[in-house]
Amino acid sequence: MREAVLLDTLKEYFGYERFRPLQKKIIESVFKGKDNLVIMPTGGGKSICYQLPAILLPELTLVISPLIALMKDQVDGLNANGVPAAYLNSSQDEADKQVIFQKIDSKAIKLLYVAPESLQFVDRFLHDGKVSLIAIDEAHCISSWGHDFRPAYTQLGYLKNRFPSTPVLALTATADKATRNDICRQLNIPEAKKHVASFDRKNLSLEVKPGIKRFEQISEFLEQRKKESGIIYCLSRKTTEELAAKLKTKGFKAEAYHAGLDHLERSKIQDDFINDEKQIICATIAFGMGIDKSNIRWVIHYNMPKNLEGYYQEIGRAGRDGLESDTLLFHSYADVIQLQKFASNAKNEEVQLAKLDRMKQYSEALSCRRKILLSYFGEYLQKDCGNCDICRNPPEFFDGTIIAQKALSCIFRLKATEPISAVIDVLRGSQNELIRRNNYEKLRTYGIGKDISWQHWQQYIIQLINLGYVEIAFDRKNNLQLTEQAKKVLFENEKVYLADVKEQKAQIHAEKTSTSSNSLFERLRQLRLKIAREEDIPAYLIFNDAALKDMEKQRPMSDSEFLLINGVGRKKMEDYGYRFIKEIIAFNKEKRENKPKKKVKKGNTLKETLALYKTGLSTEEIARERGVSLNTIITHLLKLYDEGEEIDLHQFIPGSDLNSIKKAKQELENPTGLRTYYEHFEEAIPYESIKIGLKILEKE
Ligand code: ADP
Ligand code: ZN
Repeated sequence: MREAVLLDTLKEYFGYERFRPLQKKIIESVFKGKDNLVIMPTGGGKSICYQLPAILLPELTLVISPLIALMKDQVDGLNANGVPAAYLNSSQDEADKQVIFQKIDSKAIKLLYVAPESLQFVDRFLHDGKVSLIAIDEAHCISSWGHDFRPAYTQLGYLKNRFPSTPVLALTATADKATRNDICRQLNIPEAKKHVASFDRKNLSLEVKPGIKRFEQISEFLEQRKKESGIIYCLSRKTTEELAAKLKTKGFKAEAYHAGLDHLERSKIQDDFINDEKQIICATIAFGMGIDKSNIRWVIHYNMPKNLEGYYQEIGRAGRDGLESDTLLFHSYADVIQLQKFASNAKNEEVQLAKLDRMKQYSEALSCRRKILLSYFGEYLQKDCGNCDICRNPPEFFDGTIIAQKALSCIFRLKATEPISAVIDVLRGSQNELIRRNNYEKLRTYGIGKDISWQHWQQYIIQLINLGYVEIAFDRKNNLQLTEQAKKVLFENEKVYLADVKEQKAQIHAEKTSTSSNSLFERLRQLRLKIAREEDIPAYLIFNDAALKDMEKQRPMSDSEFLLINGVGRKKMEDYGYRFIKEIIAFNKEKRENKPKKKVKKGNTLKETLALYKTGLSTEEIARERGVSLNTIITHLLKLYDEGEEIDLHQFIPGSDLNSIKKAKQELENPTGLRTYYEHFEEAIPYESIKIGLKILEKE
């Protein structure tokens, strides 16, 4: 397939000017009839890798997809782009299915999305050679190594035998090698070419904060994001509900979402979120996989996720449109312990614990977090990222030997019988039930750390754990115990360098400005919402935020200009271009009228007139639309004509008038003022026409 054809198709149907890294290579490989495995992060742009070939390939493309909600979204999105597609799943009745079978038969659709459970229904309508491509989305669901195992996926291996000449394209955002190989093995595509995209999502900021006063921290975070959509992930249903309720009392449009709600409630919440009617979702992990919303601007982890895959996938739901988005993870010791418990009850306990450990290391990192994250996915970042909390505010190290010695000897005296909280209580000389009951006041280490706050002690001890001086005995009530290494600090005076504990302030986000309510972007957003309601489709299916931002910047005023916006393809231009252009023109007009006259920039006002002229309006209509005099519009057009714009002035003046002016010009011997002509014609030809006529004659 020629590159130009691919690029034309990309623009025509998806509105994009360029392929993202790897997309082109993958698509070319598909056209060569090869099997492929694509590993790309969430939001990386996997869909186009099969949707674009599907448009150009002669027969049907079958897309296996695990989630009904996602399927519907994708099909709606394709249809909105002018690509005929349909889906088949258990939510449909027999009549619905018949319609689809007919569409397959008559080749009325290019793509068919099928849930693996529903493959059996469609099987008899398909034959080898009648399917051009098989795409398997979320392919990691086939592997029990992955973190989203779905039994229905395991039968998909039969596809390759059933359609031996059809290329298979498996796609996933899960990177680890064991899962990758497992996918190829189970799908019977051992020769598949593997394409691994970079997992770096530069537009996501990374931040980790201690999990104290979480609600206050969240409130502060949200203060700066009053209109922006986001998700708060929690570990338990109860937390989602409490948090959503608290946020509501503060006036936020928040909703809880978890597996305990019934299907209808869940899909209502999901729709409201997708359509920007609800701003915040407090969710357990049950939320998000089926969500393709591209303008999620932030993700908070109220609790720590159980591994980095899950974490990365969840934060990856932010900023799919490529615009700057923020992520915040609360790190708490209690969460780690809770997760540890879950993991030790799991079947593959060791794997789970090891994964949790990597998660913990990430949260407690003292160097660039993105480097750590990417290294987990097998990618090495040369430079620090500059967009994580550590890069923005690097820790300073100091000689913390004395602090370390105090903590270690306290743990030593407690003979590994207490967890971190009790150790800190003893260090700080607290008076509580635990201390009294155990006579801890008598210990020599009691109160030797009064000068350091509870929270800071916690941070220092976590660092000591990470440095390998202390261990947590998870099998014995999480008591702290010393390692061999600790002896060096206690008895051989080994120096310990600790990172300064920073006061927790909202640092990254201090400069954040919320989108002003009277910006053009906001206006376009409102228009998008209005259209979404009229058509009953998710707002982002019309245009994503990135496209609206581009419109705000470029201010397109004609169809051809509108088509240049990134994310605008032909169908969308035809469907929505007019309304958006009208909104942009109206906005510009209002802005101009609200400003002192002098401030109106010539260039823009001419451009607006030109744009309206190009839509085919008459001079009178342009004057009315713009709220200025007819004379002004004529002046504009003449000026544009002078500047070399293609403006046919003849259409604004009857041929007979032009002839009269021509004659008068000779008879009157080129008078300078218009008035002479006007009077010569005894006011029968208007000023405007005379002006136009003279301009035409000037060029002749
Ligand atoms: P994934 O399935 O990998 O999570 P998607 O296919 O949903 O990602 O793509 C994420 C976003 O990126 C979508 O909004 C999509 O329209 C956009 N996108 C994909 N390819 C391009 C491209 N070549 N140029 C601009 N945006 C793109
Ligand atoms: Zn960094």
